Amino acid sequence: MLMKNNPVLYIVVPCFNEREALPQSHAKLAKLMDEMISQDIIAQESKLLYVDDGSRDDTWEIIERLAAENGRVAGVKLACNSGHQNALMAGLAAAVEHCDITVSIDADLQDDITVIPKMVERYKDGCDIVFGVRKERKTDTWFKRTTANMFYRLMKWLGVSTIENHADYRLMSRRAVLALLDYKERNLFIRGIVTKLGYKTDCVYYNRSARIAGESKYPFKKMVNFAIDGITSFSMKPVRLVMQVGLLFLFIALIMLIYVLCAYFMGRAVSGWPSIILSIWLVGAFVLIGLGIIGEYVGKIYTEVKNRPRYNIDTTVGLESVKS
Ligand code: UDP
Ligand code: MG
Repeated sequence: MLMKNNPVLYIVVPCFNEREALPQSHAKLAKLMDEMISQDIIAQESKLLYVDDGSRDDTWEIIERLAAENGRVAGVKLACNSGHQNALMAGLAAAVEHCDITVSIDADLQDDITVIPKMVERYKDGCDIVFGVRKERKTDTWFKRTTANMFYRLMKWLGVSTIENHADYRLMSRRAVLALLDYKERNLFIRGIVTKLGYKTDCVYYNRSARIAGESKYPFKKMVNFAIDGITSFSMKPVRLVMQVGLLFLFIALIMLIYVLCAYFMGRAVSGWPSIILSIWLVGAFVLIGLGIIGEYVGKIYTEVKNRPRYNIDTTVGLESVKS
């Protein structure tokens, strides 16, 4: 087993209008952190970092009060609501300077915090990323469960690597966070990126519970937008599909040509019909193929614009480590 000094842990919690949930969640997280410190699992300097994502209620005042009462609380306030993924990035960026590991978790504590010590254990065993994975989600509504399942299946089909039933509850080492921060894209779908970093990963499993208080901050519209971001940020398959349909149309046009010729020679073709029916299929095919070709170029431009890192160094020998 790889022995390391006890790591400094920052638990990063994005909060948007969480006045009902935050005080209860904080009490639980602070208690867990104290226990982990006294059990010598993490370092004394560990902290809870709350990110206020431009809340319209008094979430920030609550965070300020918690920070005044407890030296282990830190806060970051975003100037306006920037969305869960951006809030999480802001928190990780702020935390990474001060800690060895981060754990990101939602403010409603639907994810079981008692597995955090297990995550730290895996980190000490040499993992850079530890995913929290839901075993079952009975407490979510039928609708949320089904749409989420369909989404994961669609993502898999589109070739986007995500961990099924893993949201944004995960431990990341310092170097994994630094690697993630190298992804400068605006349409963030963090759970799609972390699987691409290439570091050693592991999963811990838990049962998802109901929201501690307040209501979901992910209404249907935000959920759909998030899903579209996830797909279009990672997959060129939809564009290629247009091209494939175009080729299919071209094939149909050929069959139609044979059909029309047969009909013509058998004297069953009404005058004017052959040229019209052939034009419809051929023009349709060329338009779609044209769109597919343009799509390929747009896709290339998109990949360039995202400016993602080309590689991520795991380790070096005979050189000073590039990232620690
Ligand atoms: N959240 C955020 N900004 C937003 C929406 C949500 O920071 O614009 C936070 C929210 O406070 C919570 C987490 O993201 O900590 C997940 O939201 P929620 O639990 O409401 O989503 P659900 O579990 O219903 O999908
Ligand atoms: Mg939730």
